[in-house]
Amino acid sequence: MTHFHDLGLAKPLIQAIDASGYTTPTPIQARAIPKLLTGSDLVGIAQTGTGKTAAFSLPLLHRLLAYEQPVGARRCRALVLAPTRELAAQIEENAARYAKNTKLRLTTIFGGVKPRPQIKALEPGVDLLIATPGRLMDHISTGALRIDRVEMVVLDEADQMLDLGFMPTIRQLMAKLTRKRQTILFSATMPKQIRSLANDFLTNPVEVSVAPQSTPIERIEQDVQLLERSEKRAALRDLLAPREMERAIVFTRTKHGANRVVTNLGKDGLTAVAIHGNKSQNQREKALAAFREGTVRILVATDIAARGIDIPGVSHVINYDLPNVSEAYVHRIGRTARAGTDGVAVSLVEPDDRILLRDIEKLIGRHLTAFGAELEIPKDAKRPGSGGGGGGKRGGGGGGNRRRRPAGNQAKSGGDKPRQGNGKPGGKPKAKPAGGESGQSKPTGAGQGRRRVRRRKSGPAKNSNA
Ligand code: AMP
Repeated sequence: MTHFHDLGLAKPLIQAIDASGYTTPTPIQARAIPKLLTGSDLVGIAQTGTGKTAAFSLPLLHRLLAYEQPVGARRCRALVLAPTRELAAQIEENAARYAKNTKLRLTTIFGGVKPRPQIKALEPGVDLLIATPGRLMDHISTGALRIDRVEMVVLDEADQMLDLGFMPTIRQLMAKLTRKRQTILFSATMPKQIRSLANDFLTNPVEVSVAPQSTPIERIEQDVQLLERSEKRAALRDLLAPREMERAIVFTRTKHGANRVVTNLGKDGLTAVAIHGNKSQNQREKALAAFREGTVRILVATDIAARGIDIPGVSHVINYDLPNVSEAYVHRIGRTARAGTDGVAVSLVEPDDRILLRDIEKLIGRHLTAFGAELEIPKDAKRPGSGGGGGGKRGGGGGGNRRRRPAGNQAKSGGDKPRQGNGKPGGKPKAKPAGGESGQSKPTGAGQGRRRVRRRKSGPAKNSNA
């Protein structure tokens, strides 16, 4: 088995790795680090939780040290682009830990906060800059930063940047870079736009793929409860109240939904905090810190706000609402069962959402046993967001639930750009909230009148590649 000491990393980095308590490299690290140290371009297909941040940041730091040279004013030598401010901050936190025994200068810039302190931090030049695309572009256009001499660039969570509408900005940014650079692209999935981005901007990249989406979820117990919308509040309370529920992330489809869940849990005697695009940067950081430290054991989040965030020890993921996009289910439940531990994911499924459940089952190649009702989809059922009918008011925006772009007001909440409306963090969206938490629509169909809050192991895998 490879050891960090055998990878050829600089001594100050090895010392920092030892201090982090890492003993062996994760598979993505063992495979990517040696390639990246040679300066090769790389496409990494890996999800959060695989150790990908260290897989790219350790070689970046190593090469910054090995080929030390002064950074010009308002320039950076290495650039990491991340889709959301949370992910950018998390990357910096990791990279700063690995670089703590060096004199390398790191800084992070993202939207939703005042630009002036960022301009000041960029002024003397930085070795490693971690940025979200929109704010980075702002600083470039005002002359606060020049990127024409960047030696190494990383596009992290490229598929999420695509989801958030950043692709034109990314392409503009890439076109400003010198050709003599190392380019690294990480993505959990490889839709064709990401493949074409890699073809256009990477040179003979090595491809390293770990943990296909189905692998980590095998360790997660996946439960489904079929119930009425009116039953969800009590079901959630019953799930979260027991002591063995150490630390849970509850996902809602909308920001309003997240707030409402926090309020209702409060009324039911359970303290929870929310993160979503309408919260200020400060509020989001405070909420995450409280959750990480364990002072609050329930975090309520929307997809965009939560994606990419690494919080160890999450025992439960609760889908209070199923996501409109099936792939988001895999990302959500991947918040638990980190670092070899097991986790439990429970989805509360309303009658109108059974069609979404079907799509999720198709994606994960596995049947999920449900409590509460038969899993039959009424003939007249429509996908949420498919344009009226079906009794529910979910979804926002047209199209089926396999659309890549998140629906309604969640579409751009976590990134810094493109912004809409008032230009504040997460900006006031043009689209109205999707109405998922209105509680107004009266669902009909199976499961009515029942309330099941017991948990049971998920059903057997339908096919062997599950
Ligand atoms: P990432 O996929 O980069 O978000 O990393 C997921 C988590 O794994 C983070 O908490 C890292 O600190 C941790 N981690 C990364 N590499 C290792 C390693 N080699 N051994 C143990 N933990 C690691």
